[in-house]
Amino acid sequence: MGGPEIEHLIALLAKLPGMGPRSARRTALKLLQQPEKRMLPLAKAMVDAARAVKTCAVCGNLDSTDPCAICADPHRDRALICVVEGVGDLWALERSGIYRGLYHVLGGTLSALGGVGPEDLNADALLARAQEGQGREIILALGATVDGATTAHWLSDLLRPSAVTVTRVGQGVPIGGTLEGLDDGTLAAAIRARRSA
Ligand SMILES: [Zn+2]
Repeated sequence: MGGPEIEHLIALLAKLPGMGPRSARRTALKLLQQPEKRMLPLAKAMVDAARAVKTCAVCGNLDSTDPCAICADPHRDRALICVVEGVGDLWALERSGIYRGLYHVLGGTLSALGGVGPEDLNADALLARAQEGQGREIILALGATVDGATTAHWLSDLLRPSAVTVTRVGQGVPIGGTLEGLDDGTLAAAIRARRSA
């Protein structure tokens, strides 16, 4: 349909989440119709973001600073650390504005089928934070899946010797659901209805 540059662009767009070959073609066309106004600013924003992005050494969030803006914010409630599977869950909680504590990004859940073991998760750093006395309560906000439940049990056993209270988010997270997919009201209810793990 187009030259090699255009086909390459479409092939890359088609790999993005929520995109397929058809929507990639549509997006490429929209961009190509306004190269100066749409395409070059987008290309610059992508280069700038790619060069600036850092993984926070404290919590695992993605930001342009390390520690991230959340970890560095003196107004956050440092007594609370909310453990999430991925950065998408953290961003969903932030967008809802219902939680004012700190985070810890685990980087997934234990999964026998997916071959994910304890060594693949960012759990040692969480244990270190608990042992250093960072946070009085650790809230496990993992998805309501079998793997999420297995991971929550494993983490609460791991954290038991530390002087922290471990809680789990309550009702509201539908079975099989992930935090990222919840609306703000359901997220707020899940965080409020947390119980001892
Ligand atoms: Zn951070």
